[in-house]
Amino acid sequence: MAEANGAAPLLDGTKDYQPLRKKMYDLKKPHITEFPITWGNWYKHVDWLNTYFIIGVPLMGFIAAYWTPLHAYTAIFAFLYYFQTGLGITAGYHRLWSHTSYKATAPLRIYLAAVGAGAVEGSIRWWSRGHRAHHRYTDTEKDPYSVRKGLLYSHIGWMVMKQNPKRIGRTDISDLNEDPIVVWQHKHYIKSVLFMGVIFPMLFCGLGWGDWQGGFIYGGIIRIFVVQQATFCVNSLAHWLGDQPFDDRNSPRDHVITALVTLGEGYHNFHHEFPSDYRNAIQWWQYDPTKWSIWLWKQLGLAYDLKEFRQNEIEKGRVQQLQKKLDQKRATLDWGTPLEQLPVIHWDDFVAEAKNGKGLVAIAGVIHDVTDFIKDHPGGKALIGSAIGKDATAIFNGGVYLHSNAAHNLLSTMRVGVLRGGCEVEVWKRAQSENKDAIVVNDSVGQRIIRAGDQVTKVVQPIASADAA
Ligand SMILES: [Zn+2]
Ligand SMILES: [Zn+2]
Repeated sequence: MAEANGAAPLLDGTKDYQPLRKKMYDLKKPHITEFPITWGNWYKHVDWLNTYFIIGVPLMGFIAAYWTPLHAYTAIFAFLYYFQTGLGITAGYHRLWSHTSYKATAPLRIYLAAVGAGAVEGSIRWWSRGHRAHHRYTDTEKDPYSVRKGLLYSHIGWMVMKQNPKRIGRTDISDLNEDPIVVWQHKHYIKSVLFMGVIFPMLFCGLGWGDWQGGFIYGGIIRIFVVQQATFCVNSLAHWLGDQPFDDRNSPRDHVITALVTLGEGYHNFHHEFPSDYRNAIQWWQYDPTKWSIWLWKQLGLAYDLKEFRQNEIEKGRVQQLQKKLDQKRATLDWGTPLEQLPVIHWDDFVAEAKNGKGLVAIAGVIHDVTDFIKDHPGGKALIGSAIGKDATAIFNGGVYLHSNAAHNLLSTMRVGVLRGGCEVEVWKRAQSENKDAIVVNDSVGQRIIRAGDQVTKVVQPIASADAA
């Protein structure tokens, strides 16, 4: 019977499975998502079953909490159970099963599958399949919870609104089908959820200190709501809030607030770059209790083969992103007209124009128009005035005053031409032979990188001035 209305098998031989849903999709009929939402059909777009479990049940729980006194032991239990069911998702569903960032012994896998079911977020198989599609197709149409469709959509909209099963990118989960614990949890999902989600907390608080109702409401319903909302933040907040130290082409971001909410899953830019690393936070002082737990399990012999990317690879990514930011900043600055775009001016024309009242100064074969700068020259009008119509290479580079790096930068913004047959040829040849970088290195937007001390007007050994020759 399940085969009759079941979903079509995927390339990996598996079938789509929607949790908390009795009927499978019929792929032959047009899906409701293929019709636009209107006042007449909006209710057909809503996934009422998911809405009931994600919004309806918690709402009733909060109302019931009004008549349910909170026992201190129940509060402590609810918090600890929240943490463990959260770990079931972060350390189990996510880092172990979706990314195989470490290996776990059978007892640990059973524990994680059990507490993971208690978080009520679908089976390991369903969750991991969606998450692998999320990593493979981040921010695209095939990403099941793309933040490009809005923050609310990535947080909860993708679950409370019906999704076209054909849209989600396909991924290989053959390894999960070989894990008997994953397969068992998938087969017995509803039973697992009911037991771990509400019956176990009720039994624990009831048998422990007689608080059956509190165990149900606080340890069950409200705790489920908190765990769900917290882990949903990995799909929403972690793609919206924070920095992008490794790559900014996609949406994942690093932020301590997301980390605090998600048991350490907030270093999401790092995670999308290095998904098979068992860590999300790589600094010891960053909050990543999921990483600490995996590390602890390793010490206890429950986990092994913890995968870590080499620091060298991590730092390369960080430096490249820094470089990109630097290039973007550099592109906004005025570095002067590139030399190859300047007109070539003959020495006699240069002298003649200077005599006609233009404030032209030649330095290292480059002609600068300093007319508007004469009155602002920190060394006074007289000194700069004496250089007009001359080759001031030597006096600018220490003959009279050794100008600062900033002065060379400022000078470059005043360049208007290069001297024909002037000493710029000598400068370029020397620079090319001594330091190729000074000539050929361009940034990612194609602009030449001008390093401090590498300005074309900077001449360490004052050279003979052209007019003296
Ligand atoms: Zn993500
Ligand atoms: Zn992931």
